[in-house]
Amino acid sequence: MNSNLTEDRPTFVAHLECGFSGQRLEANKLHGLSPAGKPLLVKYDLEKIRAALSKETLAHRPADLWRYREFLPVRRTENIVSLGETLTPLIELASLRSGAGQVFVKDEGRLPTGSFKARGLCMAISMAKELGVKRIAMPTNGNAGAAAAAYAARAGIESFIFCPEDTPEINVREIAAQGAKIWRVNGLINDCGKIVGAGKEAMGWFDFSTLKEPYRIEGKKTIGLELAEQFQWRLPHAIFYPTGGGTGLIGMWKAFQELKAIGWIDGPLPRMIAVQAAGCAPIVRAFEQGTEHATLFPNAHTVAAGIRVPAAIGDFLMLRAIRESGGFATAIDDNSIIEARQAVAAREGLLLCPEGAATVAAYQQELRSGRVMSSDSVILFNCANGNKYPLPPVTGQLDCTQSIDFHQFAGDSL
Ligand SMILES: *Cc1c(COP(=O)(O)O)cnc(C)c1O
Repeated sequence: MNSNLTEDRPTFVAHLECGFSGQRLEANKLHGLSPAGKPLLVKYDLEKIRAALSKETLAHRPADLWRYREFLPVRRTENIVSLGETLTPLIELASLRSGAGQVFVKDEGRLPTGSFKARGLCMAISMAKELGVKRIAMPTNGNAGAAAAAYAARAGIESFIFCPEDTPEINVREIAAQGAKIWRVNGLINDCGKIVGAGKEAMGWFDFSTLKEPYRIEGKKTIGLELAEQFQWRLPHAIFYPTGGGTGLIGMWKAFQELKAIGWIDGPLPRMIAVQAAGCAPIVRAFEQGTEHATLFPNAHTVAAGIRVPAAIGDFLMLRAIRESGGFATAIDDNSIIEARQAVAAREGLLLCPEGAATVAAYQQELRSGRVMSSDSVILFNCANGNKYPLPPVTGQLDCTQSIDFHQFAGDSL
């Protein structure tokens, strides 16, 4: 048993705040969106965190997400629902390096359920348990539903999941295997979200859509806390983040603000660079048009299912983080994603998910464009285990009952 999970710690949550209007709400109650219909953010008494926790204390804690307990919303240790949310490694890709800057992949595929959705959903489900929720519903492109199903099963919470009918098959089946009730829907994730919203009254379920409850951001925030600690509180120049609903982008930026407020990091923060697929790039379009919100991206399509989100309720929070950090948003076409995935696997032995490969392709594209320098150190994100996604077929076959012509192996026959 992880010793972090055996002792009670006080919570430092002060209140919840509407991310748009700033309206304050009481924290210790079940909330969805703010009265303005926007995401709620968790606000902490940062002075008290500063007094209660030191970097040295932190350094001696177990290597999992709960080491950041003071920055997290769960009040009672008994409500923590955990599947072992390990810290994830930074893997350097030397073959991508072209100057003084280093290129790291934050490999989130090591987390439970094989994606970084585990960070957000372990927190959201723990808080749902704490606040007495018995039944949840969620639209998903795959990985969020898988994490929600797993943690809900563990918490004894009933889950109803709705996904686009072309969601990766492995996701659909892992969701079902992990105890959820799941339906394929002939639409996109926003169409699935409408079903969740419409069924609230009849089914009495709590809406677990991205950013429609306050705590997934807090779970995803641990990426930022973890990165800061891994880099000894001096973060690299830029972070390339494959952006769908934007929870991680918003969460990381929130983490950096909180760490800055307590004086644990200073100086320039990393530039936040949102990576989207050319076939679904609402945030890129809004960034380039200089607007505060994004509009629905028509005919959304891409091989990178996790970032096929044509409309996101946290759009203004993403755009704020991107602009405040001096970053930008950029789009990558599907062919570049597929090529980058194959190249990194073949050259570096790291099998990325398509969304992760999009950050590699984006890094290379932006080196060429000059928006990022070869002297900049950067973090790319692999958000899910590469083995969850289809790979090109392999044709090589041998008959072991016949004599083998070893010369055939010399060429590139596979
Ligand atoms: C959900 C997901 C993303 C996008 O993350 P957000 O924080 O929702 O923007 C990227 N890649 C994968 C594999 C995902 O599952």
